[in-house]
Formats: sequence, structure tokens, C-alpha cells
Amino acid sequence: MNREYYGKLIFELSQPGRKGYSLPKNEFEGYSLVELGETQLRQTGTILPEADELTVVRHYTNMSNNNFGVDTGFYPLGSCTMKYNPKLNEELAALPGFNQHPLTPAKFAQGSLKLYDEVQKTLAEIAGLSRFTLNPYAGAHGELTGLMVIRSYHMSRGDVARTKIIVPDSAHGTNPASAAVCGLQIVEVKSLADGTVDVEALKPLLGPDIAGMMMTNPNTLGLFETRIPEIAKLVHECGGLMYYDGANLNPMLGVCRPGDMGFDVMHINLHKTFSTPHGGGGPGSGPVGVRKGLEQFLPNPQVIVKDLKDTKDLKAYELHCDEESLGYVSFFLGNFAIIVRAYAYLLSLGKENIPMAGKLSVLNANYIKESLRSHYKLPIDTVCKHEFVFDGLREEYGGDHHSPEHVTTLDVAKRLLDYGFHAPTIYFPLLFHEAMMIEPTETESKETLDAFIAVMKRIAEEAKADPQLLKSAPHDTPVRRMDDVKAVKEPKFTFKAL
Ligand SMILES: *Cc1c(COP(=O)(O)O)cnc(C)c1O
Repeated sequence: MNREYYGKLIFELSQPGRKGYSLPKNEFEGYSLVELGETQLRQTGTILPEADELTVVRHYTNMSNNNFGVDTGFYPLGSCTMKYNPKLNEELAALPGFNQHPLTPAKFAQGSLKLYDEVQKTLAEIAGLSRFTLNPYAGAHGELTGLMVIRSYHMSRGDVARTKIIVPDSAHGTNPASAAVCGLQIVEVKSLADGTVDVEALKPLLGPDIAGMMMTNPNTLGLFETRIPEIAKLVHECGGLMYYDGANLNPMLGVCRPGDMGFDVMHINLHKTFSTPHGGGGPGSGPVGVRKGLEQFLPNPQVIVKDLKDTKDLKAYELHCDEESLGYVSFFLGNFAIIVRAYAYLLSLGKENIPMAGKLSVLNANYIKESLRSHYKLPIDTVCKHEFVFDGLREEYGGDHHSPEHVTTLDVAKRLLDYGFHAPTIYFPLLFHEAMMIEPTETESKETLDAFIAVMKRIAEEAKADPQLLKSAPHDTPVRRMDDVKAVKEPKFTFKAL
């Protein structure tokens, strides 16, 4: 690849007067249109690239090849559920009927509203809760929305002293962040050596100032929290509500339901569990569900169904704004085209196949864990759910961690890129020094898992024989080791014309 030429910015490829487009005939020629006023007109020219179609096609195709995506290689990024995004989802989302203006009156958007309603009802059934909103844009946004539901509930009862929320030390970083944005104070509860929440440490934290508790299950170590019914009872007895971070719902699909375990409010990540695109900053979707009695606090607008006249067969879908609602969290009905994709996924699996997704994700994670335990440190040695954590290479491969030759998790992650695999999540969760969190998902074939296992073993052998090879990796990627700090502190987002 000639990076010097093909690696140029589109602005650098620009030639004055080159064109890669043609506009349709102006149908309005001859009609008098509204003239823009002087103040609305642009005062200076634009700097836009001018290039022919082939140059544009090559430019963006080459740029996409510089990236790693689930369509190009295996992506075992723990806590992210990077499952395959079926192309059927894209086809359905592109149907012209779904391409509606967001201000289309409800009576002309019945199909879209019906789809929204069917997705919210299906999620409610999967979760064992009463009602969902699909309006939030992401998991973290769902957390904030869910916590606002909890706050609205306490406020509606005049219970204003509940300003604290309990969050386990193993929680995803968005949990304390969302709680802080919601104006809640975070109280951390420790985990036991086996990775689950310490119930004894939880008890003294409970009191009249507790709004609720956030839990993830399976937690971010991929472990099933077995004491949830007991924890939920304790939190409810003190007057708090239970929040379920459903980002890890995948392994539980069709097997067990958060609502049955005692959770009151939860979010789901459609871009994880329900196969919609994930990454590049979105667009995502973080539906929020609540148990019976909390529906009125969900964000506006809500999609509701009315039977038409006395016929049960004819239904009308309407937008409803509840006075007790926490208000708006998004424009219109969230990322609607993402909801269409999730609907396509739900229908293509069907009620009978959804539980298989969860079980296979668990099988795949355990298969990798057991195959690699001879080479990587397994700090929590138990059957995992959809993901698990290694604590770096075993000493006989990675060397003594006091020596400069010691091969770290970062080195392994960089070397994996040379073999065409995305790195696992590294240095998270924070409970271990060299954490490497692996989640294969159910969408990978056994052949892909075997290829990954073989490469992980090979990297361990390389670490023993030639640590420098790993310390200087990656060798075959468009860029080598990036200066992460500089990338954050001095990012360059704009092109300045010379
Ligand atoms: C991904 C994730 C989140 C946040 O979801 P986003 O859609 O990325 O905002 C929250 N909790 C857990 C456990 C997650 O894995």
C-alpha cells in the first residue's frame, strides 16, 4: 500500500473544478422561491474538497480498511458484546416506509409506532418488567434515565432525603458517572475475593438516605451474582429501588429475567445484546424498563395503544405525555432506525431461538477460558458466563513483573493486531493489575475461536522467546504504537488549508 499517496486527506486530494456528483434537474425552475435575507447569506466561501468519484471511492474505502471492525475480524472486546450485525437488519432499516419525518403526525405513522410498541413489549417480556421506553440513545443514557425514574419515584412520595446510590467496585465506569450526573452521591460496596458483591459489607451502608442500588449481572467479571434476591430484599426493606445495568443481558436471554430477581428499573443496550451497530460513537440505543407502578415516570413521549371503537382488531397507536413523567431525554422517539434493526434481529431469531444466543455465548467464553488457562493467569477460577478475565500472562511466559523485560497485557494486546484480531478489553475491571477481559459472543464459529486460541498461545511462546517482538508490536498495522496521552491532550480534528 502506497501510504504516502493513498493516506492523504481528502482535502489534499482536492483539485479545483473536479466533480464527483451530478444534481437532478431542478423541478422548481421558474417558480419564485423565498429569498434569503442578507443576514442569512454566507459571508465567506466554503473550503470543501473537490474530487472525482473514483478518488472519493478509493479514499473512503482505503480509510475504512485502516480500521478494525466486526466485519473484518474477530473482536473479543469484553463488556461490549461485539456480536455480528446481520445484514438483514440493514436491509429492513432501509425500507422507504421507515424513512419518515420525525414530525409526521401519529395517524400517518401507525406502522412505525406499531414497530416501536412491539419492540417495547418484547423487551418487557424478555426482562420480566412492565413497560419499556426506547427513547434513550445509549447505555449510559439509559442509566441516567433509569436513575431519574428512581429519583422521580422518591420525589413523588415526598421522600427527598434519598440522595445516595450504592454501586459495586466492579461496576462499569458509566454507573458512577451516570449517578453523579443525576445528582446522586455514590457509595461504593466492595466485592469478595470470588468477585461477587459482599453482602455483609452492604448491610451497614443501607439507610433512609439510600435511593437505590445499581447492579450488573452477570457482573463485569462475567460472574453471575447469586445473592441478588437477598440483596434486593435488603435494599427494598430500607426503601431503595434496585437498578439493573443490562449491558450484560446477552447470556441471560431467555434463561432468567431481571424482573423476577427483584430489579425495579433497568436498561438494555440494543447495540450489544440485540445486534445493532456498535462503535464509532453510535448511534446506539439504551431502552429503559420499569416494574409495575413506575410506568408513569418514564420519559415522554410514550407510545401507547388504544382499541378503536369496540373492535379489538383495530388498534390505534398514539403518543402520550404523562404529567408525572421525568420529562424528555431525547428528541422524538430515540434512534428509530436502530430500533428497526433490533426488531429485525428479534424476529429473525424468534422466541424459540433467543435462549440459544445466551447459552452459546456462555459456551464460547468458557471454551476460550479453558483452552488458554495453561498460558494466561486465571485469577477467578470458576465457570463464567459470557466473558471472563485473565490477569496477564503466566509468569513462565511473561516473566517476572518486576523486570523491565516483563511482557504486559498491553504488549499482548498490541501483538494480537498483527495477527488480525482485535484486542480484548484491557486494564478493566480495575480489580487486577494486568486485566484482559475476553468476550467472544455467540456469533463466532468454533474455527474462529480455535484460530484465536492458537494465536494467543503463540503470542505467549513469543513472549518467552523474544519479549522485544511484543514490546515493539504492532508491526503490520497502518500506525504503530500511538501516544495515547498526546492523542487525548492534543487531538487534531481540523484541516487547515495551506
Ligand atoms: C457498555 C456498558 C455500559 C454503557 O453502555 P454505552 O452504550 O456504551 O453507554 C454500561 N455498563 C456496562 C456493564 C457496559 O458493558
